[in-house]
Amino acid sequence: VKGFAGQNVAVLGLGRSGLATAHSLRDGGAHAVCWDDNPAARETAEAEGFTCKDLRKQGAFDEIATLIVSPGIPHLYPHPNPVVVAALDAGVPVDNDIGLFFRSFADSSWDNFDTLPRVIAVTGSNGKSTTAALIHHILTEVDRASQLAGNIGRGVLDIDPPEDGSVVVLELSSYQTELARSMTPDIALFTNLSPDHLDRHAGMGGYFAAKRRLFAEGGPDRAIVGVDEPEGMFLAGQMSEGPTDDRVIRISVDRKLTGPGWQVFARKGFLSEYRKGRQTGSIDLRAIKGLPGAHNHQNACAAYAACRSLGLAPRVIEAALHSYPGLPHRSQIVAEAGGVTYVNDSKATNVDSAAKALSAFKRIRWICGGLEKEGGLGALNTAKDNVAKAYVIGREAAAFALQLDMETEVCTTMAQAVERAMAEAQEGETVLLAPAAASFDQYDNFEQRGEDFTQEVRARLPA
Ligand code: ADP
Repeated sequence: VKGFAGQNVAVLGLGRSGLATAHSLRDGGAHAVCWDDNPAARETAEAEGFTCKDLRKQGAFDEIATLIVSPGIPHLYPHPNPVVVAALDAGVPVDNDIGLFFRSFADSSWDNFDTLPRVIAVTGSNGKSTTAALIHHILTEVDRASQLAGNIGRGVLDIDPPEDGSVVVLELSSYQTELARSMTPDIALFTNLSPDHLDRHAGMGGYFAAKRRLFAEGGPDRAIVGVDEPEGMFLAGQMSEGPTDDRVIRISVDRKLTGPGWQVFARKGFLSEYRKGRQTGSIDLRAIKGLPGAHNHQNACAAYAACRSLGLAPRVIEAALHSYPGLPHRSQIVAEAGGVTYVNDSKATNVDSAAKALSAFKRIRWICGGLEKEGGLGALNTAKDNVAKAYVIGREAAAFALQLDMETEVCTTMAQAVERAMAEAQEGETVLLAPAAASFDQYDNFEQRGEDFTQEVRARLPA
């Protein structure tokens, strides 16, 4: 990171991204002053030669140029973080690694437009990782240098210095977009919006406001926006100078988009691209195995639009979509046996993503449950025709099951749920883990939950 040589910069939170920030500041000649409430995290930082100091103390922000906050730390809601409050009281600017990234690269060699490495930033409630990974995969397949960073891949301050002509694909959560002081991607992409993390954003309005900061005035040169929710429609409208403005590409998996603008939509498994009223591309998405379901078609549309923005031809993108290997824990087929398919979608941590997963398959033995999020489980019942039976896990399994309008069995543990679902599954059915809930009541994270499912399945299958 440039721009802080000889200055003190405070770093709050010493996980992966906090440590990467501290290293990057040090490389740029700044002095990182670090804090984490967890003593073990402080020890790690000290072992790497960083100074730790209790930033909650009176006067801690004297002589500090800025405070960098890690995405894992709630800074404002549900409770203001005392370190952040201390910085604000002292008039010290608060930022995060994403803000540092844009600030530091915007004024380097990147401002030569012709040879500029493109930054594509992806946000939205669901499909961010898949969309970002898809873009990265397509670019890699056509030998365009690309790095995946942010919430997925490497920390944004951990990447290699991008070379001219290369691309950085950033996945940004609402926590990151909310705090970054400057974000100037070449292409900003918004997938969709549904309730998630509402406690940290004081409700839906705050959550949307956090995401749309990526599209602020002076931000992206091009906006790719999912318009299947009113918020996305609104955002696309605000970014656009008029009906034929090429700066905005609208995405839908809900309806055929009409109008003279640039649009990419998927209907009945077919992707279509229209520009100025003429069809400029199409792809049969049903033939692409790694992207089942309308939600993945939305991700494909978004990635397609981003790659078209960079000048790739539809056929080239189509070929690359076919070789997409998928991401673990997202619609991931982990076993097929006796005519039953086992799918790990542990990343379906909220109601909307799980509902999407349920609509991507038929005759589902559905493993769900965990730490319930705000907003209720109602949306899950819309897909009940696809579900043969639900096997509910989690500490609150019984309460969770009561809200489901379908045949349920309270299993509590993953082992029990897998055993029961497997015993009852018929040929042609899918055993699907799509929890619709966070994992923290039983696991450290969704990855661990997905691995547990995979192991429980594989252990019961003949080798
Ligand atoms: P994110 O990074 O936004 O959490 P992922 O690509 O990791 O998104 O997908 C998370 C889960 O959300 C997946 O497991 C799948 O169930 C669901 N999902 C994926 N893409 C979409 C989409 N476009 N719309 C709704 N749900 C989706």
